[in-house]
Amino acid sequence: MTSPIDLRSDTVTRPSQAMREAMASAPVGDDVYGDDPTVNSLEERVAEMFGKEAGVFTPTGSLANQLAIRMLVAPGEELIAETNSHIVRAELGAAAVFSGITTRTWPAKNGLLIASDALDIARPNSGPYLVSTTAIAVENTHNFGGGTVQPLDEIKALRKGADELGLALHLDGARIWNAHVASGVALNEYGKYFETISVCLSKGLGAPIGSVMLSTKDRVSKARIWRKRYGAGMRQVGLLAGAAHYALDNNILRLTEDHRRAKEIAIAIASVDASLIDPNTVETNIVGLDLSALPMTAAELAARTKDAGLWISALGPKYARLVTHLDFDDAQCAQAIEILKRALVAQ
Ligand SMILES: *Cc1c(COP(=O)(O)O)cnc(C)c1O
Repeated sequence: MTSPIDLRSDTVTRPSQAMREAMASAPVGDDVYGDDPTVNSLEERVAEMFGKEAGVFTPTGSLANQLAIRMLVAPGEELIAETNSHIVRAELGAAAVFSGITTRTWPAKNGLLIASDALDIARPNSGPYLVSTTAIAVENTHNFGGGTVQPLDEIKALRKGADELGLALHLDGARIWNAHVASGVALNEYGKYFETISVCLSKGLGAPIGSVMLSTKDRVSKARIWRKRYGAGMRQVGLLAGAAHYALDNNILRLTEDHRRAKEIAIAIASVDASLIDPNTVETNIVGLDLSALPMTAAELAARTKDAGLWISALGPKYARLVTHLDFDDAQCAQAIEILKRALVAQ
């Protein structure tokens, strides 16, 4: 049997031979002492790409998010975010557990940012009885929203409103590379509107591990202390930063291929049943299927496709997700479409 096609996430990619060679030859040092040249150059490189002063390398995007919001929101204060954002739903309550941060959420269709949705619930300087809002998080692209690219005009409107209210903005840019490639908006343009940014190198870019938190020098040096306090001070991790450099050199522009294949899958699925997905909503590498009109759960669909050699995620009772990536080619795309069509019609 051929090996399964794995579309559960874009985190499943394995480092290529060339990436492994870049890792093996990366100069290294003890990063806790600031001595790893490959980590240092990575942090500087990513900061510069987004027009930020500094960056700190972290093992995960969750840690990059948590360090960032810790720098913006004091214990007992509030971060607001979209209902299905990763920070709220997929970081296991870290903001509350580690930082004493409370969260409140606004719902958005497909996670699409409408600045007024966020600004309407923001309550800065709430006095002695109510929780004060101090920051807003934006996810771009929006993962559980189906890879939604946030409109630049809404980001600008959010910045303007946040300035009027004295609020800070954090960008969860785990897939900001996908947003950049899909929208044509420059990375340093996105960088202008946020106090802190987290980016992932281990999603679409295909590195085995790694994220960077970006901000001012001051916030980043404080975040570095917290990273160590959390137990994530790392030593000769230039090996991993080497993979990240390779990913930045080679794997950004090719994300358009992932987007094209996601769109092909969406169109093919919509031709079976248009209630499952509107292909126009597929802007990047995520295809979210709404099974509510079908007599089948997402888990049942995932089990059927798995039997046929295609792995997908069941993220809700009636919500399935497919994510295209670096290790998924046109031949596998054609195969995946056939498997999905068969699994969907065989009711
Ligand atoms: C993957 C992801 C993260 C970080 O996840 P880790 O598994 O901790 O690296 C953060 N935000 C979003 C939107 C993500 O998709």
